[in-house]
Amino acid sequence: MKTIFEKSNNSGMCLIDEKENLNFLDARFLRENACGLPQIGELEVLRHYKELSDRNFCIEKGFYPLGSCTMKYNPKVNELLASLEGFANLHPLSSDEDSQGALKLMFLLQEALKKITGMEAVSLQPAAGAHGELTGMMVIKKYFEVKGETRKKVIIPDSAHGTNPASAHMCGFEIVPVKSDEKGQVDIEALKEVLGTDVAAIMMTNPNTLGIFEENVLEISKLMHDNGSILYYDGANFNAIMGYTNPKLMGFDVVHLNLHKTFATPHGGGGPGAGPVCVVEALKDYLPVPVIDFDGEKYFRNYNLEHSIGQVRSFYGNFGVLVRAYAYILMMGNNLRNATEDAVLNANYIKEKLKKYYDLPYDEPCMHEFVLSGERQKHNSGVSTLNIAKRLMDFDVHPPTVYFPLIVHEAIMVEPTESETKAKLDEFIDAMIKISKEAEVEPEKVLSAPHKTPVLRVDETLAARKPDLKFIDNY
Ligand SMILES: *Cc1c(COP(=O)(O)O)cnc(C)c1O
Repeated sequence: MKTIFEKSNNSGMCLIDEKENLNFLDARFLRENACGLPQIGELEVLRHYKELSDRNFCIEKGFYPLGSCTMKYNPKVNELLASLEGFANLHPLSSDEDSQGALKLMFLLQEALKKITGMEAVSLQPAAGAHGELTGMMVIKKYFEVKGETRKKVIIPDSAHGTNPASAHMCGFEIVPVKSDEKGQVDIEALKEVLGTDVAAIMMTNPNTLGIFEENVLEISKLMHDNGSILYYDGANFNAIMGYTNPKLMGFDVVHLNLHKTFATPHGGGGPGAGPVCVVEALKDYLPVPVIDFDGEKYFRNYNLEHSIGQVRSFYGNFGVLVRAYAYILMMGNNLRNATEDAVLNANYIKEKLKKYYDLPYDEPCMHEFVLSGERQKHNSGVSTLNIAKRLMDFDVHPPTVYFPLIVHEAIMVEPTESETKAKLDEFIDAMIKISKEAEVEPEKVLSAPHKTPVLRVDETLAARKPDLKFIDNY
């Protein structure tokens, strides 16, 4: 494949002849040589970019069971609504009076998220899940500062998403890991051992990253509250519980959500996201400002929160993401719980079909995702989880999340989401079974995969340590 510069062939139309038409400018402002933009006609431009986009994998192209990432279908109508002129072109510095529609949407989204999480107040400002975590931890830190208590430690289960310890650490907390028991859940006895008056909070994900619901969550929340500590809920993967239960019922005080996972806005590649933080009444005044309020007549930006940690992002968050999420919530209405139901059903269906062929270290009913292990294949034929993931690409499947969570060796973390058909799930199951058989009889085929992607196997270490991003025409 050629770059667009190499394809340049003067098939395009140049609208201005610089030398002739720019002669009203002082000659010293005119470049002497052409600037070297590709000269290529519209049709050739379209073909070029279509070809490039065909080399990318995306949810519209195939199954994308990337565990913990909720790569579900994002209805296109959300895009349409977010691009409405009144939303897309509203200047963030417009007055409250001139922004009533946008403020109302944000207010109603806050109300919806309160209902969904059971919490009492919401900030829509954080731009991603990890940013929401950091914001939540800042709220907790300030809460203890105002109370005059010194609490330096944050307890985090060993199954946690890596952003949890990172966020707590960035906030200046000391991380105390707590191990999982044989059922893949927080080991209560181990938790009791690390509890003390210096513990500010516990950060939990429920269901945890193994996709397993923490059965003892009420006992844990009682233990923590009796200790004067706060419970933080990582709600990035909310389609595991949405409409069935909520963090408030489980005893949590602070929650972040990933609108770009659960609430159907596109994500990946560092694109915009939104990680709203929801809190209980006692923490309401600590949220970032402004929050969006309503005085009975008008919607307004409220900067008047007594203990606010300040602002964590410019303006009010990624507004376009908020529009998409609100549209999705309105569209689903009371059926939001159906998304959860289908996500959980799909995950359990695949898990049950595959557990004969791959190790399943925690053989429990799962929620929206589950974790297999490629240990058997590695031991029997030297085919590692990485090889299995690469081979899946030959079946037009995006590889699942691998080697995470850290507590499972050769982990393969599968999250099918609710938006897939049974036929699609069956195709994936067939591919996984086929690969497990290949590993036995023709391991070389798996070891050297992928065979049909535009870029074949890359040297992972070299790619990470010495990234070379220039274009090489070697395929
Ligand atoms: C995705 C995810 C996060 C981080 O969210 P980002 O938006 O990527 O920062 C945190 N926790 C869990 C469990 C996640 O799945």
